[in-house]
Amino acid sequence: MVDWDGPLSEAYERATTYLAGLPERRVGPRATAAELRQALGGALPQSPTDPQEVIAHLAKGVEEGLLPSGSGRFFGFVFGGATPASLAADWLTTTWDQNAGLYAASPAAAVVEEVTAEWLVELFGLPRGTSVGFVTGAQMANFTALAAARHEVLRRAGWDVERDGLIGAPAIRVLAGAERHDTIDRALRFLGLGTNCIVPIAVDDQGRLKPEALAEALSDDGPQIVCAQAGNVNTGAFDPVKTICDLAHDKGAWVHVDGAFGIWAAVSDKLRPLVDGIERADPWATDAHKTLNVPYDSGLVFCAHPEPHRAAMSIRAAYLIQDENGERDSLDFNPEFSRRARGFAVYAAIRALGRSGIAEIVDRCHAMAVRFAETLAANQTDTLAANQTETLAANQISILNEVVLNQVLVRFGDDDELTRRVVRAVQDEGTCWMSGTTWHGQAAMRISVSNWTTDESDIDRSAAAVLQCLQQA
Ligand SMILES: *Cc1c(COP(=O)(O)O)cnc(C)c1O
Repeated sequence: MVDWDGPLSEAYERATTYLAGLPERRVGPRATAAELRQALGGALPQSPTDPQEVIAHLAKGVEEGLLPSGSGRFFGFVFGGATPASLAADWLTTTWDQNAGLYAASPAAAVVEEVTAEWLVELFGLPRGTSVGFVTGAQMANFTALAAARHEVLRRAGWDVERDGLIGAPAIRVLAGAERHDTIDRALRFLGLGTNCIVPIAVDDQGRLKPEALAEALSDDGPQIVCAQAGNVNTGAFDPVKTICDLAHDKGAWVHVDGAFGIWAAVSDKLRPLVDGIERADPWATDAHKTLNVPYDSGLVFCAHPEPHRAAMSIRAAYLIQDENGERDSLDFNPEFSRRARGFAVYAAIRALGRSGIAEIVDRCHAMAVRFAETLAANQTDTLAANQTETLAANQISILNEVVLNQVLVRFGDDDELTRRVVRAVQDEGTCWMSGTTWHGQAAMRISVSNWTTDESDIDRSAAAVLQCLQQA
């Protein structure tokens, strides 16, 4: 008899201990790379070890090198945590070990994806019949979306890119805001279009694409794709998608929206205006591992036109059993072939939260980001009143962005060096964790509130830690 119980109960024990410790755990890794190598490295194992022992060794070895991104005081990058239902469903996904590429390989995975896809389309208010792929993240969602767009704009120019490739094809222009996410450029490299196809469009001080600049750059004909953004990774700002769609469609261009975390604003009654007109776009990319707080990795791609989506991705091989009754073969919508059944965790997340629960996460992340910005700004006034003139400038805190969603950019003393020092000091101190960035040439601390558990006390403790680090920096 195989002993599943040993390693799995070891894992269960370790998992619940880790999760229960998150709220009070130091938010940052403690171990150096050398210490981790020391704990985990060594010669290639020549003979078997008991699985339970392996799990205990692994868990112990990595413990001090984990970045606790599930903490309510983790504000780095744009990372989400994991909700209980999605985490548990993710465990079962691993246990069931389904290959979700084909309906025949897992009818359950296919139907759960189909159901979840319809829920997502309704949540975001996208057109009925929109096709959906469950990918690893927004990087691959951008890639898949742009592959569909590449197919369609070239088809309209009389070119079959799936058959004839890009050599000799009409050139494609990709019009994208100057503050687009770097994964757009990377997707275009993967697609053989190269970064030189990008026509950068001017943006405003929040990073929003300027429609006038787009209107000027669009040409009257030729294959063109416009890349808009719902949620700038620094400021959280939204491109005016409605106007962008009108301008682009008028010239026969497709509009892709990178809404990795921002598209979730569509679920909130209060924040929905940020994505006004989003349903007019053609493909969209987003993540489930950010705002929805599904465990890594989980991204989503949508296309209002299933045919080009399918044409860009689908594959036919004699030995595959492809479904003839119209059931969902997910490899028609995904760049992967064999594939983890990512739909289960997304399904469980949506079922457990419901529309109102998702809206609450979106609204709370926004409210907590505003609270963080306001607390820092208010404390600056106190410091100003109490301090000597000389230290005024040094302690000055500026919020560089309009906090429209969950992102806050903070700059200290209008000084790059001081700002970077404060970011490092906060990371070392361990109450909370955030990273630095450069926004329009200025160093900034970048706060992203993306965790479903973050509450007022997390914000207040974190803001106090930041202010203390500033005083000592
Ligand atoms: C995070 C992010 C991406 C990349 O997403 P991954 O899930 O890391 O692949 C792309 N675009 C934007 C706007 C993002 O915030």
